[in-house]
Amino acid sequence: MKYTVVQTPRGAKDILPREAYVKSRLEQRAAAYLESWGYARVYTPTFEFFDAIAQGDGPVLADSLYRFVDRDGAALALRPDMTIPIARMVATRYQPEDMPLRLYYVGNVFRYAEPQAGRYREFTQVGVELIGAAGPRADAEVVAVAAGVLESLGLASFRLDLGHVGYLRGLVEAVPDGRVGDGLKEALLRRDYVRYEALVNQCGLDASRRQALLALPRLRGKGDVLEEARRLARGSRAALEALDNLSAIYELVTLYGLEERVGIDLAMTKDIDYYSGLLIEGYAPELGFTLGSGGRYDTLVGRFGQDFAATGFAFGVERAMLVLDRLGVTEAGPPPPQLLLIADDRCQAQLLSFAAALRRRGVLVEVDVQGLSSEEALAYARRRGIAQVARVVGEEAGTPLVEVAAAAAPPAGDGAAGVFRRVRADRLLGA
Ligand code: AMP
Repeated sequence: MKYTVVQTPRGAKDILPREAYVKSRLEQRAAAYLESWGYARVYTPTFEFFDAIAQGDGPVLADSLYRFVDRDGAALALRPDMTIPIARMVATRYQPEDMPLRLYYVGNVFRYAEPQAGRYREFTQVGVELIGAAGPRADAEVVAVAAGVLESLGLASFRLDLGHVGYLRGLVEAVPDGRVGDGLKEALLRRDYVRYEALVNQCGLDASRRQALLALPRLRGKGDVLEEARRLARGSRAALEALDNLSAIYELVTLYGLEERVGIDLAMTKDIDYYSGLLIEGYAPELGFTLGSGGRYDTLVGRFGQDFAATGFAFGVERAMLVLDRLGVTEAGPPPPQLLLIADDRCQAQLLSFAAALRRRGVLVEVDVQGLSSEEALAYARRRGIAQVARVVGEEAGTPLVEVAAAAAPPAGDGAAGVFRRVRADRLLGA
C-alpha cells in the first residue's frame, strides 16, 4: 500500500474544531437525554482479547476486526462494537440482584469497512443496553429511548423499523440443512430477492411455508403487516410466537405515541449473529445507510459466563451529523471569544489577573501572547470574529485601567470601530 506519513490511514480522520464542537455537543445532548431515562454511562477498554470478541460474535464482525498481538504475545482486537465488551463486563462484574441494569455509552469502534462518506473504519457510537429484563416492556422502552434520543438531536426525518429474528427462523426450522436458512438470511441481507426466491423454491418446504417465505420481502408497513404474517405463518409455532412477541412490543410502542415513527419489517435481518428476538433499524431518507440499529440479545451475556436477558440500540454519531448537515440544521462551530486582551510588558500582571476575573464571570476571553500592537490586535479580532479588544494600560487602587474598542462597526452603525475608550473595569466584569 502506498501512503505518506502525513496522511491518516484510510477510513480514519482528523476532526477540526468546528466539526469537533458539533460532535461533542451532539454527544453531550444525547448523554443528557439518556440519563433522563435512568441510563448510566460506562466505559470499556478500546481493545479486548480477540477471543472475547470472537466469542461474542459470528464470522462477519470477526472478518472486519482490527487484530494485533501485544508484546506479551496476547491476541487482541480493537472493539468492533460496544455491546460485546459491555456483555463481557456485565457477566463478570454484576449479580442478578443488580438487575435490571440501564447502561449507556459514547465510544469509538473500529471495523474494516470500505470507506466512503458516512462509512469509516473508526467511528463513534452512542447506545443503550437494558440488561436483565426479558419482556416486551424492556424492548419497547429501548425503542422509545432510541426514538427519543434521535428526536432530541433534531433528526426530524428518521424512521424506526422493527423486525424479529424468530419469524424467519421459525419458518425455516423444518429445513434439515441449516445452510439453507443462512443462505436465505444472506440473500435478504443483500436484498437479493432473485436469489432469495430461488432458494425458497429449492429448499423442499411444504407449499404453505414456501408461500409464507415468498411473501416475506413484502411484509413491511404498519401493524396490519403483523396480521398478514400471522395468517401466512399458521403452520409454524415458532414463527407465531415471534409474532406474538413482536405484536406485544409494537402495542407498547404505540402507547409511547410512536406509531408515526415506527414500522414493521419482517424481512429485516442482521449480519451480527448475537440477536435473539426483536430487531430494530433506524433510517433517515437523507442517508444511504442505517442511522442506528439494535435489538434483543438474550444469549450474548451468557457466552461470558452468566446468563442475563438484554436488549439495546446504538446509532452512529457521524451518520447523525451527516443527516443534520443534509437537513441544513447543523450548528455553527464554537463561539469566538467575546474579548481579546492586550497589554505591553509593563501591564502583564494586571492583564492576567483581569483575564482571570473575566473568565470567572463567564466571559470568553482570549489573551494575546504575540505582543500585538493595538492595530494588529483589531485586525486579528476582526479575522477571528472577536467583538472587542481591551487594552490594559495600568492600575488604580487595585482596579485595572482598561480601554476598549469594537473590532468591527456595530451593525446599527452607532459608534466607530477601532476607537479605544476608557471604561470602568467593573463594567466589563458585568458588575
Ligand atoms: P451496527 O453495529 O453495524 O448495527 O451499526 C450500528 C450503527 O453504527 C449504524 O446504524 C451506523 O449508524 C453506525 N455505523 C456502522 N458502521 C459504520 C461505519 N463503517 N461508519 C460509520 N458509522 C457506522
